[in-house]
Amino acid sequence: MPGRDDLAGNEPLPGPGAAYLDPVIRAILDGPRAGGRDVPASRQLFVNRNLRMDKVEVVGFDMDYTLAIYHLLQLEELAYDMTVERMVERRGWPERLRGLRYLSAFVIRGLVVDKLTGNICKMDRHDHVGRAYHGLAAVPREERYRLYRDERVAFSTPRFAWIDTLFALPEAAIFAQVIDLEETAGKRLDYDRLFTDIRESMDQIHADGTLKTRVKADLARFIVRDPELGPALHKLRSSGKRLFLLTNSHLDYTEAVMRHVLDGVLPEYPSWRNYFDAVITASGKPGFFSSSAPFVELDETEAPVPGEVRGFERGHTYSGGNRGELEKLLGAGGDRVLYVGDHIYGDILRSKKSSQWRTCLVIEELEREIDWLDQHRTELEEVAGLEELRLRIDDESAAHRAALNAVERRVDRLAAGDPSLPLMEAERVRLKRELESLRAALRDANARVAGLQAAVESGYNRYWGLTFKEGSENSRIGEQIEDYACVYTSRASNFVFYSPMQYLRVLRRAMPHEASALRLAPWGNSSA
Ligand code: IMP
Ligand code: MG
Repeated sequence: MPGRDDLAGNEPLPGPGAAYLDPVIRAILDGPRAGGRDVPASRQLFVNRNLRMDKVEVVGFDMDYTLAIYHLLQLEELAYDMTVERMVERRGWPERLRGLRYLSAFVIRGLVVDKLTGNICKMDRHDHVGRAYHGLAAVPREERYRLYRDERVAFSTPRFAWIDTLFALPEAAIFAQVIDLEETAGKRLDYDRLFTDIRESMDQIHADGTLKTRVKADLARFIVRDPELGPALHKLRSSGKRLFLLTNSHLDYTEAVMRHVLDGVLPEYPSWRNYFDAVITASGKPGFFSSSAPFVELDETEAPVPGEVRGFERGHTYSGGNRGELEKLLGAGGDRVLYVGDHIYGDILRSKKSSQWRTCLVIEELEREIDWLDQHRTELEEVAGLEELRLRIDDESAAHRAALNAVERRVDRLAAGDPSLPLMEAERVRLKRELESLRAALRDANARVAGLQAAVESGYNRYWGLTFKEGSENSRIGEQIEDYACVYTSRASNFVFYSPMQYLRVLRRAMPHEASALRLAPWGNSSA
């Protein structure tokens, strides 16, 4: 066993004259170059695993919902209407479905559709279902407990479908709204068939070009032109990093979208292609990360160019391929590659599980959620204060109960007329009164916490509350982000606020047993 001294190492610890205490350092830190700290929270990069940007040689980007930010409501409404139309036209669903209008507030990323019961659920990180809806009605608590808590449910079986991309949000809304419409009219539904019909109809409108034709016809209506994206990519390139685009979209759509997003943003890059060392379309993610499919070069008509791909040429387009081959052709792999994408499964989890690539998840809705939390900082601080207070009330209540028990036992044992009896009686009355006051304080604190939490959560989304939280735990999607994304942020362009050499560091995170010690420690105050 090593002794304490061995563990402490031999380096002398910096003392009161430590360099970091020098006023010159303070002045540098407060100076204009430290602009990174001024980035509004909703545009910051958040770090789950240390990432040294100076070690990253190649940065890859997904396109849809990563480089191309959609006007969410516009695209979702279109996909919703087209899918419903398909269900009526080709799958025998009644005409009245055409009257449905997309209820966007009803869906958030991270929900799970239960194809057996017709419910939609939100879980916390322990897979406890905190909320569930059947149609548009909340599933009562007893029913929710009976279905999902009394026995362990395996949520990774085909019975459940995850809504983990923004593309999938309208699917969950159609599911709930059709159930609401049909069951209110007294119809019985096969939920599994309903979801399959929704899924396959949505799949078709994506795959056969119906959706994309409409988007291409009015790009400005559907896709945001983010003025900071070009400068962000330029910043990465000018530090010597190479960039690639890796999308599941096909060439003609990619060309149209990328032109809209990047062409002419910076004079040095007249075409979007100037930013990228390799452009890979129809990549077949997530299979791309583990398959051995070859790369195929495409001509402008999207026809394959015969011959083996031995290297990427700038300005050319490739399709298919696989991760290993990409690394070989780029001459960089493992943790020297950073991949930026929006799909927790297809872009992040699968690349993480089958490679050493570092990952950055883009989560558009983070921007609104952070702004919301910021606006409600006072309430959230009060909740945190009350939670601490509750712990102390709990401790005091337990101590009072033990003391009261002891006094009552002594009173019982004393003979009538014992001179210490009146004193004991008085003590008993006092403890009892205090215990009742403590209980009342706890009740009020509980009610206040519940009220404040409900106001913050239901103000954000009246059905599901916050996306990344469920109760006081991380939601399941929040937990997956922590587990799989090295860093996460609301937009790909947020890299513009950081040095391409930045050491993106994890802040020390406290386990419950560390919390009180860290609060006492000087570094526990984040602003210190
Ligand atoms: P990426 O995010 O750039 O890799 O591209 C995602 C692509 O997947 C887009 O072209 C979408 O249209 C397409 N997509 C999304 N959902 C579906 C689906 O359910 N079926 C087929 N394609 C889809
Ligand atoms: Mg995407």
